[in-house]
Amino acid sequence: MCTSTRKHIHNGKDYPEVWGPQVADVFSRIRYEPQHELKAAIEATGHKLEDIKKIILGHMHLDHAGGLDQFMDRKDVEIWVHDKELRSAFWSVATGADEGVYLKHYMDGITLHHLPGHTDGLVGMQLNLPNSGTFFFISDHCHVIENWRDGIPQGWLARDHPAWFQSTQRLKRLESTTKGRVIPGHDKETFLQLQSEIKDYLS
Ligand SMILES: [Zn+2]
Ligand SMILES: [Zn+2]
Repeated sequence: MCTSTRKHIHNGKDYPEVWGPQVADVFSRIRYEPQHELKAAIEATGHKLEDIKKIILGHMHLDHAGGLDQFMDRKDVEIWVHDKELRSAFWSVATGADEGVYLKHYMDGITLHHLPGHTDGLVGMQLNLPNSGTFFFISDHCHVIENWRDGIPQGWLARDHPAWFQSTQRLKRLESTTKGRVIPGHDKETFLQLQSEIKDYLS
């Protein structure tokens, strides 16, 4: 990203332009409505964009880091990302190498787990809710629920297969000890299911 020549484009709304024709073609946008904008999605929860205090980036692929441009001018927002992921992102833009440390951090009932595989520095978020139990938002460690249920990585989208299987093993143990629910990065059914249950979780 080049700040000096940056045009006023949004990664979400102007996605075909931002990603370029090849990527936009492979991952074509099927449906895009005003309610899908980050601002609108936050407002649907009864909050405002200005209320956001912390942002946790599971990994930094375009489809997971795009909304950051909404926070460019904010000095009061903490952005959490794994050291490895940040380095990989910088390096893949500039040259190509990486190195890092294990991250396990706690904040207000949120635990972050380093889950290398899809990317080197991918981080999943464990959320412990007092009445509703534990949820694992695993970003693109699994794109869809089949990756999780059948233990099958996502083909060429996973960068490091041995690491992916190790991360999956660790998650499976966490899932069984916490009786938690796993939420993949791109699974529509899981999303709709959660959406239908959301009132129970917030109570
Ligand atoms: Zn990804
Ligand atoms: Zn993704």
